[in-house]
Amino acid sequence: MQTLWTMTARSQPDYRRTALPDRCDTVIVGGGFTGLTAALELARAGRSVIVLEAGQLGSGASGTNAGFVVPNFAKADPAAVRAKLPRAQADNLLSLVGSGADAVFSTIASEDIACDAAQTGWLQPAYGSEMADVLRHRAVLWQELGRPVEFLDADAIRAETGMAIYSGGLIDHSGGTIHPLDYLHGLAKAVFRHRGLVRENSLVRTLSTDGRGHRIGLDDGEIRTDSVLVATNAFTSGIAARMGRTGIPLRVYQIATRPVSADVLARISPRRRPVGDTRSNLFTYRLDRDNRLISGGMALNPMGAATRVGRSVADRLARELGIAQPGIEVVWTGTAIMTPDFLPRIYQFAEGVFGGIGCNGRGIAMTAQLGRILARLALGEPAREMPIPLRQARALPFHGLMPLVASAGLAEARLSDWLSNRA
Ligand SMILES: Cc1cc2nc3c(=O)[nH]c(=O)nc-3n(C[C@H](O)[C@H](O)[C@H](O)COP(=O)(O)OP(=O)(O)OC[C@H]3O[C@@H](n4cnc5c(N)ncnc54)[C@H](O)[C@@H]3O)c2cc1C
Repeated sequence: MQTLWTMTARSQPDYRRTALPDRCDTVIVGGGFTGLTAALELARAGRSVIVLEAGQLGSGASGTNAGFVVPNFAKADPAAVRAKLPRAQADNLLSLVGSGADAVFSTIASEDIACDAAQTGWLQPAYGSEMADVLRHRAVLWQELGRPVEFLDADAIRAETGMAIYSGGLIDHSGGTIHPLDYLHGLAKAVFRHRGLVRENSLVRTLSTDGRGHRIGLDDGEIRTDSVLVATNAFTSGIAARMGRTGIPLRVYQIATRPVSADVLARISPRRRPVGDTRSNLFTYRLDRDNRLISGGMALNPMGAATRVGRSVADRLARELGIAQPGIEVVWTGTAIMTPDFLPRIYQFAEGVFGGIGCNGRGIAMTAQLGRILARLALGEPAREMPIPLRQARALPFHGLMPLVASAGLAEARLSDWLSNRA
């Protein structure tokens, strides 16, 4: 599939023929941000590690996302997390997610990854005065946790976006943007540099355990290992099924427009800050290095959706930003995953076999943390010391029908925005 990222990647190395030993300390299943971050951490710690990726690097969400680096939860604010978990555990988890963007940008700096990384800050404009009050309070909670978050008034948000419909908003100065595919390839190169291995076209079909550890079954052979990390996100093929069925898959469409003019740029994004507002039918935009606008949306009906959603996202960009229709350069799609409580998960499937889902639309920052946590588990650190609590991997009933649930959720979101607009 062609995406903005495949069109503009600096390089796309081919790892289909990596020679593999028949044993290693840890096998990582899935070569997205989670798997490669875990691999980098383990390789840096001197462990022998192999990442097995079913398709090409970037076939999953890590290659198809929009590159907004956002250090918080899309659907669970600090107050909601504190309501769900004991206070100390909640604050550990919030500190983890709050420092997720810093984790991404520090890995990029320390491994010298060229990926258009821009830690410009992330803006969340508030739609309606009630939401402005929520964000004002949220800013205080993040500040108490030591995060560089501020509330901006309506004029400041207007100066940042050119949009007058907002009643204020948040800025998290640690957020920003990246070229996700370049970041992913940079992580893979770093894994090799630290003597780890990555192989593409390597679907892991089976996992069995005996007195001598684990056996990983591939179409063309077998690898023995002491520990296994499952980093397969929304996928359900081969051994990914058990974890993938614990979340709700969401098909998301992204577009990149033709580059916008310097005048438009100066009005809608003078500091090149990525934007994601508070509406249920979220409005987002950011720029790539060539000043294309990137935005996204979902479809109620998947038939022929790419063209239809592409057009409606471009129309929405023009309408909301008050600009001429910029023209679409590319539309692409990917599958994200939501957990039922919107929080990240770690699972233990057997002794030495762990899995994790970073998820929830803001996975770039979260997976940088999740990968590290999975690596710590593979290194033998106790699960009870992790900031994400260990959970039972329970498949959601009627998992196959979940896309319908997501469509119903989108319809409800559109209705609720329409109603609040009329109120
Ligand atoms: C369209 C879209 C837009 C998004 N935009 C943003 C954004 O702007 N900002 C943000 O923070 N987050 C965003 N996200 C979410 C973010 O991209 C994800 O949370 C993150 O990339 C998940 O990384 P991962 O490594 O866990 O999973 P993935 O990147 O999905 O990697 C899982 C990998 O496992 C492989 N695999 C599966 N089964 C097997 C098997 N049996 N054997 C071997 N390999 C297997 C797959 O091929 C895949 O490459 C977006 C997601 C989508 C889909």
